[in-house]
Amino acid sequence: MGPVVFESGDHRAREADARTAAARLVAEEVHGVALVWVDNAGLQRVKTVPTARLPEACAWGVGMSPVFDTYLVDDSATRGRHLGGPSGDLRLFPDLDRLTVLAGQPGWAWAPVDRRRQDGLPHPACQRRFAARMVEAAAEAGLELRAGFETEWIVTRGQEGDGGPPFAYPTDGPAYGMHRVTDLSDYLADLLRAFRAQEMTVLQLHPEYSPGQFELSLAPEDPVGAADTAVLVRDTVRAVSARHGLRASFAPVFEPGGVGNGGHLHLSLWQEGRNLSAGGPGRHGLTAEAEAFLAGVLAELPALLAVGAPTPASYLRLVPSHWAGAFSCWGLENREAALRLVTGSTGEEARAANAELKCVDQAANPYLLVGAVIAAGLAGLRGKAELPPEVDGDPAALPEDRRPARLPVSLDESLAAFRGSRVLAEALGEVLHDTVAAVRAAEIELFAGRGPEETAAATRWRY
Ligand code: GLU
Ligand code: MG
Repeated sequence: MGPVVFESGDHRAREADARTAAARLVAEEVHGVALVWVDNAGLQRVKTVPTARLPEACAWGVGMSPVFDTYLVDDSATRGRHLGGPSGDLRLFPDLDRLTVLAGQPGWAWAPVDRRRQDGLPHPACQRRFAARMVEAAAEAGLELRAGFETEWIVTRGQEGDGGPPFAYPTDGPAYGMHRVTDLSDYLADLLRAFRAQEMTVLQLHPEYSPGQFELSLAPEDPVGAADTAVLVRDTVRAVSARHGLRASFAPVFEPGGVGNGGHLHLSLWQEGRNLSAGGPGRHGLTAEAEAFLAGVLAELPALLAVGAPTPASYLRLVPSHWAGAFSCWGLENREAALRLVTGSTGEEARAANAELKCVDQAANPYLLVGAVIAAGLAGLRGKAELPPEVDGDPAALPEDRRPARLPVSLDESLAAFRGSRVLAEALGEVLHDTVAAVRAAEIELFAGRGPEETAAATRWRY
């Protein structure tokens, strides 16, 4: 797993591996392979190749302009200090370890890509490479991470003209209601069938709070793999929805004022096969290492939001008392804390304990997010950071003197924190840090003066 390792001149070996993979695809009647990556605005971009061209794509990469690093949610482009503009080329290299025949799109396969320069060196703004680098940094400290993203989406019937309300929900069943599972029985069974066919382990599928909302969680894996999975989960939900005449929205806010779609990230820290989130002497069994890691994440949350809540619409979701984690605090099983400590049932802690980052949504590039969170955690470890007192219950209901700080209430605030974050600047490197900041600044400008309805409408079907 992870980016292709390039030794000079090994294109022949890559080509040979891909020939075997392509032969298998042909036998399964796969005609095309979608080579997918996620841009800094959180949108999936793609080049596809006919199956017969996969070996060549793996040997030499597929061309794509670096201008996409500066694209915004509306497909306009901005410019950073290093990237933007029409010149230059990058090569997309499929990761064959994640090559997947798509169950919801017969005739198609899917693979995430690493982006390299024409000379074969990694593109400094490749988000997947960044995530892999942070995993390597953790490994150098003797640590391993397990991660998993939750996927929430709202499903509506058919196309709604200009994409605005009113929406026809295919079920009027209540929040978490069995009624919804009965109404959409075939659709949900097809989803489970698709994930099984794609050899992806679903842990849970359930109706969520908002009208037409559902949630899927998959088994934890290494952080780069978890980000790949988050992308493929959305592709699969979208495809299966379309085959049922349905449309899926993963946007942070679907109807302003309602409960939105989160993209919570679960993380656990391991050392030599041992889960450091359990069995330690600290609060709720935390080890000193896990505490320091989480304290590092907590300390960087304002800056991390520029990565995890990356568009003005994110701040319509991130409000108190909506289970979005709008306060800078942690708590045991507290669904209003930005960081929720999860222990699992008594007896299974050593396997199940983890922390859930709730304040993030699916406009986030999942590779940037896992990488940035690991960077913050490692900084906490280096500084032996300590967690503040935990918060029990809804922070919004606490008396003012005991209430933790609100997280940024706008992208302007998180961008300022991101620009000032030494930890993230160093981890991302100058090119990626600057480009992400440029895209955030341009989206702030893009949405300036637009109200919640307009902001929601412009982002509802983009992610
Ligand atoms: N939909 C909520 C959000 O926006 C999360 C609900 C939950 O706790 O799963 O994050
Ligand atoms: Mg949920």
